[in-house]
Amino acid sequence: MIRLSSIYAGLLGSIWGLAPLLFFANSSTHAQVILICLTSGMICSGAFVLATLPSAAISFTIPITLGFIIGVLQTGEPIYISVAILTIVYLVAIMRAVMTFSLLLVNRVLSQIASEKAAETDALTGLPNRKCFTGRLETVIEDLTVNGIGFCMLYLDFDDFKSINDRFGHAAGDDLLIEAAARMRACLRETDCISRLGGDEFAVIGTGIKEQREAGLLAERLLATFATPFQIAGESLNMHPSIGIAMAPLDGQDAQILLRKADAALYHSKRERRGIFHFFKEEFDSLSQDRKSIETDLREALRDKQFHLVYQPFLNLVTHEVTGYEALLRWDHPVRGSVPPSDFIPIAELSSLIDEIGDYVLREALQTAATWPSHLRLAVNLSIRQLRNMSVVDKIRAQLAECGVPAHRLELEITESKSMASTSQVVEILHKLREHGISIALDDFGTGYSSMTYLCHLPVDRIKIDRLFISGVESHLECASIVKASVHLAVDLGRKVIAEGVETPAQLAFLEKLNCHEAQGYLIARPMPADQIAGFRPQLKLKRHSAA
Ligand code: C2E
Ligand code: CA
Ligand code: CA
Repeated sequence: MIRLSSIYAGLLGSIWGLAPLLFFANSSTHAQVILICLTSGMICSGAFVLATLPSAAISFTIPITLGFIIGVLQTGEPIYISVAILTIVYLVAIMRAVMTFSLLLVNRVLSQIASEKAAETDALTGLPNRKCFTGRLETVIEDLTVNGIGFCMLYLDFDDFKSINDRFGHAAGDDLLIEAAARMRACLRETDCISRLGGDEFAVIGTGIKEQREAGLLAERLLATFATPFQIAGESLNMHPSIGIAMAPLDGQDAQILLRKADAALYHSKRERRGIFHFFKEEFDSLSQDRKSIETDLREALRDKQFHLVYQPFLNLVTHEVTGYEALLRWDHPVRGSVPPSDFIPIAELSSLIDEIGDYVLREALQTAATWPSHLRLAVNLSIRQLRNMSVVDKIRAQLAECGVPAHRLELEITESKSMASTSQVVEILHKLREHGISIALDDFGTGYSSMTYLCHLPVDRIKIDRLFISGVESHLECASIVKASVHLAVDLGRKVIAEGVETPAQLAFLEKLNCHEAQGYLIARPMPADQIAGFRPQLKLKRHSAA
């Protein structure tokens, strides 16, 4: 366009230049004055009009000037030599003004382009940001509506990224994100679009991908780039994303719907296990809506003090004395009613809410335990997600000191989980806690994936046999065998053992015969409010059972 404009301007300038070239020498003085005014006016106005296109301004003004100079010199009069020289000076001055103006204009346009680009780029990773992603999503949706070209959308989120930030600092966390972004970018096609949506969340649009199989391959490729550990502060660190995938048009043709569905699928990947991907399924949708609203409600619950604790006793099976109580969390929601921990703890675990809830539980339980006789221990459930940072050790010790409860009275119950397997840090933290006199119980023993491995590697003082096995000891030989083996194993390994969920006298008798150390369950007592503990006596029911 610029070249065409320059050509047309050159042609026009040449026509204007012909007038003085052909007629100046033979014109009357009067006509010569008019020609001089006309020519200088054309040079100035042409340059002014074409100032935004310097090459066109030059093409227009040079032929006029040349035609004029040759025309005036043809007269042979000395005065016109001065006029020719003045015209050249005039042209140079005008050209300089044009160049300055166009330079200013170019700079302004360039900085405008740069700021528009910056507004769509993530400053840390250099990837497109959420704004750009939204625009890109709209484009592919339009492509789908008009041309029927499907695509897939992948939502990625790194597991436990917060703990990396806490442990190594934000600068190191930023470096990891930059490298992660580069790895992912490198394994995608030119046509795919990867964006950082914020924090450790990324999204990929796989254009032209119509089948789940292809989207699955893309997700596998992304996950494979994290097989190599990252190097950070001289340590080698494994970091994996979980991925949720929504397919368009299969899962919808609306940006918000697709985002919501990919997010719901991501939630399922995160909940199950690190480093996997899930496609969206219809049943995820309502769950994900529910999760979001529970998350919001949990924040309010913390603020509005909707939580309280109940306590369930442990019974020594030799002395039939209560040895302590387990604190169990209760949430009284103004509309939902009483929400069981199994409905909200897993949701809290996906965000930092679990830390705030954990802090509340520990403080509240320690304040209550401080009023108990000193031989009673307090067991508190701790999510493995709370063990992401070494600072938890100091936090727990500070709370013990604040409430005046000696460390040996506190037991932390942790549940084996897949995410535990890969973190040597969890083991280190547990060792530190034990060094300070806090004991550790392995909760729900036998239900996990590798109970035996944990028993070998984790510094555990007590195992709690899961109630699933206890409930079956009378009716299922397998359950009875597992309980028997678990008690023997714990005793052989020098660990204490407690059976949870004891509901019948027969179950209790079975455990007593095995020399299981302690029992907990509805038979002894249901979880009770703190103010009932002082008056609680379990003996009556049990004596009757012993007599029987
Ligand atoms: P858990 O640690 O295995 O707790 C035992 C659960 O079994 C409790 O349910 C308790 O009320 C129930 N239970 C006790 N005895 C019996 C019995 O004889 N029969 C039956 N059927 N159930 C019995 P709850 O309070 O609903 O807690 C469920 C889970 O939620 C707990 O399992 C624990 O993993 C988690 N949880 C509870 N409070 C907290 C907490 O403060 N922090 C964390 N991180 N998790 C918690
Ligand atoms: Ca427990
Ligand atoms: Ca349990």
